[in-house]
Amino acid sequence: MKTIIINDEKAIHKPASELRIAGLTRFTTIDFPDCLSAVVFLKGCPWRCTYCQNPELQTREFSEMEERVSWEYLENFLKKRRGLLDGLVFSGGEPFTDPALYSAIKVVEELGYKIGIHTAGMYPEKLKEVLPMVDWVGLDIKAPLSSENTYCKVVGKPNFTKRVRASLDALLQTDVSLEVRTTVHPDLLTDEDILLIGKELKEAGVSTFAVQVYRQPPESDESNSLPRVGSDYPASGTISQLHDMFETFTLRRS
Ligand code: SF4
Repeated sequence: MKTIIINDEKAIHKPASELRIAGLTRFTTIDFPDCLSAVVFLKGCPWRCTYCQNPELQTREFSEMEERVSWEYLENFLKKRRGLLDGLVFSGGEPFTDPALYSAIKVVEELGYKIGIHTAGMYPEKLKEVLPMVDWVGLDIKAPLSSENTYCKVVGKPNFTKRVRASLDALLQTDVSLEVRTTVHPDLLTDEDILLIGKELKEAGVSTFAVQVYRQPPESDESNSLPRVGSDYPASGTISQLHDMFETFTLRRS
């Protein structure tokens, strides 16, 4: 049976040994700014974004085909890499879906690693709880926070904008480094939507924003994914306005 946890904001801390790790990138220079890091991909996400590149990570259960990285393996790996790696990024899926995340972060921090998290911000209370241990967060903002309809169209679930806004506000009240990023596709977000996201983030106090243009997953075709994006989207005028709005603005197109 598939488990989808949506409203679980209770602080249930399972032991780190129960962390559901579906993958480990042993070394990266691009997933945690200015930090040589490893990345773990955790199982579970309550949303169903049209463009999700890791749908196999949405459920908490492992299929027979999936490999599982054990906590013991990760802990030993991190012990051996001390001095060679600086940080560990918890990614997913949505890492806050995992009730063992808090305990895992605590152990990894005690091993001397910096902590990075990729999150879409749907669990503000859990996020607040770990922030004192965290060094950097990459926060996905999927659509304008003022438009519940557009948000729901992108993430496939209603009534999350208040929770995402609470996560953003919590992050901006700390000194944790923050990059906000938005994946864009013309079927989901117009140029006006993208500019509105930019304005909302600017007003909230965000200084680092990245727009990531949707790219088709390898080996997919347009029958099972969104259409390819033309080079005229987002429009150059939109990009230049965003450049002017933020201290650091990045357009990622691949
Ligand atoms: S939030 Fe991320 S992991 Fe969850 S469905 Fe959306 S893209 Fe996939």
